[in-house]
Amino acid sequence: MTAAAPLYLSKIQLKAELDRCLNCKTMPCMNACPVNCNPQEFINHAKQGNYDAAVKTICRSNPMGQTCGLICPDKFCMRACTRSKIDFAVRIPKVQATILENYRTCPPEQTHPRLNGLKIAVVGAGPAGIAAADILSKQGCQVVIFEKSPQIGGALNLIPDNRLPHHVIEKDWNHLPHRSLITLRLNTPAPDPQKLLRQDFDGVIMAGGEPNCRQLRIPGEELCLSYTDYLRNPDRYKTTGKVAVIGGGNVAADCAFTAKANGSAHVEMFVRRRLADMRISKQEYLELISREINVTPLSSPEKIESDDSLLTLFLHKNDWRDNKLTKIPDSTVRLPGFALVIKAVGSYADPQCDNERIVYAGDCKTGGSTIVEALASGQTAAETLLASIKSGKSAACG
Ligand SMILES: Cc1cc2nc3c(=O)[nH]c(=O)nc-3n(C[C@H](O)[C@H](O)[C@H](O)COP(=O)(O)OP(=O)(O)OC[C@H]3O[C@@H](n4cnc5c(N)ncnc54)[C@H](O)[C@@H]3O)c2cc1C
Ligand code: SF4
Repeated sequence: MTAAAPLYLSKIQLKAELDRCLNCKTMPCMNACPVNCNPQEFINHAKQGNYDAAVKTICRSNPMGQTCGLICPDKFCMRACTRSKIDFAVRIPKVQATILENYRTCPPEQTHPRLNGLKIAVVGAGPAGIAAADILSKQGCQVVIFEKSPQIGGALNLIPDNRLPHHVIEKDWNHLPHRSLITLRLNTPAPDPQKLLRQDFDGVIMAGGEPNCRQLRIPGEELCLSYTDYLRNPDRYKTTGKVAVIGGGNVAADCAFTAKANGSAHVEMFVRRRLADMRISKQEYLELISREINVTPLSSPEKIESDDSLLTLFLHKNDWRDNKLTKIPDSTVRLPGFALVIKAVGSYADPQCDNERIVYAGDCKTGGSTIVEALASGQTAAETLLASIKSGKSAACG
């Protein structure tokens, strides 16, 4: 098994990555970034040794720049990087994370907003809620964030520590420029948004993510563990026995990595579609191979049975033809001996209502996405809400 990749670049690696940037004037990397972070500019500052300016450039458009640097997938800025046409893309996320880790010593850049008299409720302290609160406070609003859990970060807290240590989320949070205008209420489930409007809030940003796990709807489902229960407390489920993970996205991959790191002798992922359809990056796929995690494509669970303390999984095989997935008749296989079966087949949001002073943001609006898309959505939601309040429109819910 290979060791986990280091989170940050060494000084010499950072220099090498900075030198590889071609300084494109068209800035394809910025245009590909959902929050319009400008790698060409911060890399240029860093090349000249002006790290304060590099830090300011990142933080100007991204309230969670270091967290993004650790977990942004390669499908945004890196995919657009011109250097990839010559050899390999500049490792922009790693450069971004390393600059903020090593050189964020100056206080956040203040913009001295004038209080505009508006009080806004934000429901959820995940990336979308944090980004919305950042924009609203920069515009001079007083913001109250309601967060039902004991910590900020939302779904990011389910990401294993070796990919994203929680203190990095706190570090980004502590660098928000107008924290004094933001009141964070942890352990506080928000009331209904209509009720918040009837209280003294002028508008509500709903950024509650997707708290409900999708079901398999098979007999014996109660015998398996949801990814949220597993990833919230993986030490509780440590086992050296066999572990099955049902699902083919990056959340399922995180479950598999964690089970393997926690000592399981055999971890196997069962994926309904083809390997090519898995919602994971190439890097994650290579890591699955290097950590000897088996991936079985085109298989759907039918039933789970308990046999003493072990679980037996029944799966049927699928076929993929003419862009359609079909079940292969009489293809059921019986796989005994699992200590744990974890399901990671997606999640969904709570029902939503319709009111111009209630704006939805992040995963609850777009479906499961990425941190940087959730941040962009939170920023847009804040602008939309302010525009809506300013134009004085309001409609009843439902
Ligand atoms: C295991 C895992 C791995 C991931 N890996 C990556 C990755 O590598 N790269 C990447 O870019 N993205 C990754 N993601 C996705 C990323 O974490 C999400 O897209 C992002 O967190 C969504 O942000 P959000 O603010 O919309 O929602 P969330 O992060 O889900 O935050 C919603 C918050 O709202 C709170 N809340 C909900 N209802 C209420 C209420 N009524 N009252 C008060 N609070 C409430 C919740 O407690 C939560 O804190 C991963 C997600 C998971 C689960
Ligand atoms: S925020 Fe993410 S996508 Fe945007 S430039 Fe930084 S690493 Fe790339």
